[in-house]
Amino acid sequence: MRIPEELAELGKKRIEPYPVEGFVYGSGPQKPKLMLVGEAPGETEIGNDIPFSGRAGKELMKFLEIAGAAREEVYITSAVRSRPYKWGEKRGPDGTKIKRKYNRAPTSREIIAHAPLLDYEIEHVQAPIIVTLGNIGLKRLIGNDKKVSDLHGELIVQPVLRLNGEQFEWTEKEYRIFPTFHPASIFYNRSLLELIHEDMKKLRLLRRNFPMNDQPD
Ligand code: URA
Repeated sequence: MRIPEELAELGKKRIEPYPVEGFVYGSGPQKPKLMLVGEAPGETEIGNDIPFSGRAGKELMKFLEIAGAAREEVYITSAVRSRPYKWGEKRGPDGTKIKRKYNRAPTSREIIAHAPLLDYEIEHVQAPIIVTLGNIGLKRLIGNDKKVSDLHGELIVQPVLRLNGEQFEWTEKEYRIFPTFHPASIFYNRSLLELIHEDMKKLRLLRRNFPMNDQPD
């Protein structure tokens, strides 16, 4: 499934005021085994237009294998579809300073700018379970007061947040949300790897109870 072109154009316009670059469409089948909601694309993704194709993506594919799903069977998207960057300096081989862009987490304004895109995907992708990867996706869907460290590995059935004008409001419909850590988190904290593996094993079992496309009413 791909979001309509007008919606992508709207997203590009809404995010224009902010320091971001590129635009990567969410990708995967309309009736996937799972829907994954990440944070925002990075440098690799804006270069090849494939979500989670960089270093974090390689880890994610290993996690998906434990959960019993392949890339082609899941719908992958994120809270923001452009790469948020900040300028920083790096020393070159000869010691000279080189200015370069670094990834950063999206701001709440950037998340709001792309909210209509994710809202559309949530409404149209018929996934039995939505897996949020990290705090950004989790908070975007079920509120800023939630934390992945508290909720990871649990199935949560509840409405999700949807942008209405300037404000988020709850959907009438309930969704199955399964929070886990962002795959890039293991680069900073290796001990999370074990927790993610446990979460993926739970997810594999849960998937048996909720066959494809069987969403809560
Ligand atoms: N992190 C994300 O959330 N999405 C990507 O596509 C890559 C890294």
